[in-house]
Amino acid sequence: MFKEFAKGLSITFKHLMPGHSTTVEYPKQKLAPSARFRGLHRLVPAHQREKCVACYLCPTVCPAKCITVDAAENERGEKYPRVYTIDLLRCIFCGYCVEACPVEALEMTGTYELANYKRADFEFTKERLLK
Ligand code: SF4
Ligand code: SF4
Repeated sequence: MFKEFAKGLSITFKHLMPGHSTTVEYPKQKLAPSARFRGLHRLVPAHQREKCVACYLCPTVCPAKCITVDAAENERGEKYPRVYTIDLLRCIFCGYCVEACPVEALEMTGTYELANYKRADFEFTKERLLK
């Protein structure tokens, strides 16, 4: 019994040693998210505009119904999203919107620090999503 006790304690002390901890001192230290992490969305820019062609596929597949798109046509007859907004308070970060996009105009970044004080700041407009 003492042997198991000592073994358990040795594991505990091992994790107290520098370099063996599984946690970091956030926010002083930050972990890099994996490449597959689904954080804040980003609208991909292309040729001085957004790549999005306002096809409405992403708001259609979104299970949380938190994407608002309003299509318009520019002077060259191309469709573009006059309005594109994601309400992050409702988003469940499932990534379906990114998968559904036929032109790869939407991606999810590694940004996870999304805390805010006001509800309005969780409304990510086209301009904010293009940054
Ligand atoms: S990640 Fe999911 S819930 Fe969030 S906007 Fe995309 S489809 Fe909707
Ligand atoms: S699926 Fe892609 S192209 Fe269609 S509205 Fe969404 S972001 Fe735009």
